[in-house]
Amino acid sequence: MKPAPFAYHAPRALDETLGLLARHGDEAKILAGGQSLVPLLNFRLARPAVVVDINRMSGLGEIREEDRQIAVGALVRQRRLEVWAQQGFPLLADALRYVGHHAIRTRGTVAGSLAHADPAAELPALLVCLEGSVVARSPAGHREVRARELFVSHLTTSLRPDELITEVRLPRLHTGAGWGFLEVARRHGDFALVGAAAVVSLADGRIAEPRVALFGCGATPVRASRAEAILAGQPPTPEAVVAAARDAAGALAPESDLHATAEYRRRVAQTLMVRALGLAIGRARGNGP
Ligand SMILES: Cc1cc2nc3c(=O)[nH]c(=O)nc-3n(C[C@H](O)[C@H](O)[C@H](O)COP(=O)(O)OP(=O)(O)OC[C@H]3O[C@@H](n4cnc5c(N)ncnc54)[C@H](O)[C@@H]3O)c2cc1C
Repeated sequence: MKPAPFAYHAPRALDETLGLLARHGDEAKILAGGQSLVPLLNFRLARPAVVVDINRMSGLGEIREEDRQIAVGALVRQRRLEVWAQQGFPLLADALRYVGHHAIRTRGTVAGSLAHADPAAELPALLVCLEGSVVARSPAGHREVRARELFVSHLTTSLRPDELITEVRLPRLHTGAGWGFLEVARRHGDFALVGAAAVVSLADGRIAEPRVALFGCGATPVRASRAEAILAGQPPTPEAVVAAARDAAGALAPESDLHATAEYRRRVAQTLMVRALGLAIGRARGNGP
């Protein structure tokens, strides 16, 4: 199918873009990499009156390194960040290689994936696990939206129609922290059936600051906060990890669909959480892969 008719704008300046979004509100859609929006347009699942293509805008294509975080401009493609991250942000590189296929990542943007908010997508889960944020701009100014406030439901964020994500902020891991990122999909490049991201530090031989996000098993990425509380301060034993993962899986409310039953998702989430935490603990000890 072909898209329903729409007016197309390709502004170059931020003021112009924000003006268009403010003027057209709900009727407008931002086009970044197009890897999610264009299929929705073609299937007529989205019928915006106006498409605002941000690809000609300047100043949104940078990856900026700051002391405690990296700032990723709205037009940074997933593949570019993946290559960049191989030098010093392996958790990010691990997560990005699961996103679609190479061709999709060369076009799809990091910000676009977060704005699209697919609950089975890797980058929203990563943002939740790292406690990252996005910067949203509108004619009223700008605000920082933390991951836990950004994802509201399936394909729904707390961004207003007049807001453009200009930057994604990804906190760096603490020195010595370990990480694990795993998912199960039917084929490489497919959206995850279920996935798990984990970050762990060790202090005096005990687990410190554990963070776990599960995806593909709820309407948004799920932060396993209660399981984190169970783990914090414990020796990093398999028993502690399994107990925390069992608790996290029990608290999930996944849905059954064509691809997997709720029970399957819950069980896979538990297994992946155990494995991701195992990887994270091994890396924090300095003897992981
Ligand atoms: C075959 C296929 C397989 C895929 N597999 C995966 C996968 O395994 N995992 C995965 O995570 N993704 C997957 N994707 C989706 C891909 O990662 C998309 O690139 C991503 O979801 C959207 O990024 P985009 O830049 O293409 O955004 P677009 O498609 O241009 O836009 C997506 C949505 O975000 C909004 N938006 C975009 N940029 C901004 C912004 N700066 N501010 C506010 N709103 C914005 C748009 O208005 C639209 O609603 C797949 C896509 C395809 C076609």
